Amino acid sequence: ENKRAIKNTDPIFREHLLHKHERQRFIKIGLNQAIEKRELHLAYQPIVDTQNSATCGIEALLRWQHADELISPAEFIPVAEKSELIVKIGLWVLKRACEESLQLCKQNKLYLSVNISAMQLKQADFIDDVRKVLAQTQFPAQSLQLEITESLILEEKDTVAEVISTLRQTGIRIAIDDFGTGYSSLKQLQDVPFDAIKIDRSFIINMTEKDIAILTAADFIARQLNAATIVEGVESIEQLNSLRSLGFKQYQGYYFARPMPADALPAWFETQLNLPKTANEKVDV
Ligand code: C2E
Ligand code: MG
Ligand code: MG
Ligand code: MG
Repeated sequence: ENKRAIKNTDPIFREHLLHKHERQRFIKIGLNQAIEKRELHLAYQPIVDTQNSATCGIEALLRWQHADELISPAEFIPVAEKSELIVKIGLWVLKRACEESLQLCKQNKLYLSVNISAMQLKQADFIDDVRKVLAQTQFPAQSLQLEITESLILEEKDTVAEVISTLRQTGIRIAIDDFGTGYSSLKQLQDVPFDAIKIDRSFIINMTEKDIAILTAADFIARQLNAATIVEGVESIEQLNSLRSLGFKQYQGYYFARPMPADALPAWFETQLNLPKTANEKVDV
């Protein structure tokens, strides 16, 4: 099937495809041993709440240092998701994140947010695995948030919705990640119970009239459903001020903090920006 696809294309594209396949093979093989070789680690990015003038959570983001290269999760997660590798890696992420951030979350009253792939949710023992990790690490379920992205495969939608409901009953929060992109549609909101939506950064890059209409509508939906709205990818004071005037309160983005290693977090908490409390008050750069 691949061969035929390649044969029909022009030489430049053919070369590109070959490179792509080689690269994917390279990633797949390397990733298979990444845990044993201790090549994986986590970075954490603060999620801030300007209303309470405080950091409310941290998102764990996977990093892979392979030989000399720091390979982006945007590249290797899709490869891991194609095989069942994501199941093993996802569990490693959850456990490591709970271990590494337990003290920090307790001391600063934070929640820990962890990305979960649809493939993980479909594993029969996912709920058990999560419970085990919480028990082993003593991490409180109430302080854990799971971020879900993929459009759930339709046939298994009921099972997945049930798994999510069960997890929520144990106190775990559910966030819909990358909201507004093809993967996180209104259909998903209909099917799955959730506590927060994370609005994709593509909606705040240009802030066109259309973007603002969509942002406002998304926030309205979240409010009606008693869910929080987190805006992702805030990089500038201008973006922040526009978003604040629209009534948004929770943000994640380089403007506040970049993802950082666990051991850099305590220092960040000591020196973090003094966030303004009211919507009219502008933030000093
Ligand atoms: P995501 O879950 O939407 O995570 C947010 C991404 O946006 C992160 O990219 C973060 O570094 C980046 N980001 C945060 N603030 C800004 C900003 O102000 N500007 C810009 N340009 N980017 C910002 P990262 O760490 O490269 O991760 C990419 C994606 O890989 C994640 O998107 C998530 O879908 C996936 N991923 C990362 N770690 C895991 C994991 O442990 N499990 C799974 N299943 N997926 C993961
Ligand atoms: Mg996320
Ligand atoms: Mg995600
Ligand atoms: Mg996202």
